[in-house]
Amino acid sequence: MARERADLVVVGAGTIGGWASVFAREAGLRDVVVLEREQAGSGASGRAAGMVRAQGGMPDTVRLGSWSIGFYRGQRDRYDTDSGFMQRGYVILATTARGERAARDRIAMQRAVGLDARWVDVDEIRRLIPAMAADGYRGGSYVATDGWVDPPRNVRAYSLAMQRAGVSLREGVGFVGIRTRAGLRGHREVTAVETTAGTI
Ligand SMILES: Cc1cc2nc3c(=O)[nH]c(=O)nc-3n(C[C@H](O)[C@H](O)[C@H](O)COP(=O)(O)OP(=O)(O)OC[C@H]3O[C@@H](n4cnc5c(N)ncnc54)[C@H](O)[C@@H]3O)c2cc1C
Repeated sequence: MARERADLVVVGAGTIGGWASVFAREAGLRDVVVLEREQAGSGASGRAAGMVRAQGGMPDTVRLGSWSIGFYRGQRDRYDTDSGFMQRGYVILATTARGERAARDRIAMQRAVGLDARWVDVDEIRRLIPAMAADGYRGGSYVATDGWVDPPRNVRAYSLAMQRAGVSLREGVGFVGIRTRAGLRGHREVTAVETTAGTI
C-alpha cells in the first residue's frame, strides 16, 4: 500500500494548530493534515478566558495583538463564521505606585508602535465599568479596541474553517515522532511523521 503523504503535518487542533492549518491551505499547501490525540479544542483553547489584547508588553506583542484583533474582526467576511469577538475595551489596573509607573512606561511604548493606549483614572474607570469599586487601585491602562472571544465558539469557527479549507483533521490520532535524514548544509530533512495510526 502506498504510504500517505502530506505537505504539512500540524500537531494539535487547538487555536494555534487549527488556524495555522487554514492559513497553510490559503498559502497554497495542498495536503495539510492535523493530528489531534483527543478532540479539536480539548486543550487550553477550549477553556481559556478568551481575552484578546493589543496591550502587550513588547512592541512585537503589541503588533501581534493588533493583528489578532484585525483577524477576529474580519472573520465573518472571510470565513462566514466567527469566534465571537466582542470589542468592548480592556483596562489593566495599576494598584501601586510602581504598577502605575510600569503602566505609564508601557503606554508610551505602545503609543510609539501606533496603539491608541492611554492612562485612565479611577473616575473614568468607574464610568467605563460601573460595577468597579472606587478604591484599591490608582487607575489603569486602557485600549478601547481590545476585547475578548468566546473560546468554544472559536473552536467551532476554526473547525468549520478547516473543513471548508479542505484540511484533513485526524481526531483521536497522536503524534509519536519524526524520521529525518541528512539534508543540505548540515540540516536534517523530515522524511516521515509517525502517528498512532501509522506513518505519513
Ligand atoms: C484557564 C486559561 C485561561 C486562559 N486565558 C487566556 C486569555 O484570556 N487570553 C489568551 O490569549 N490566552 C489565554 N489562555 C492561553 C491560551 O488558551 C493558549 O495560549 C492557547 O489556547 C494555546 O493554543 P494551542 O493551540 O497552542 O494549545 P492547545 O489549545 O492546548 O492545543 C494543543 C492540542 O494539541 C493536542 N496534542 C498534544 N499533544 C499531542 C500529540 N502528541 N499528538 C496529537 N495531539 C496532541 C492536545 O490534545 C490539544 O488539543 C488561557 C489558558 C488557560 C488554560
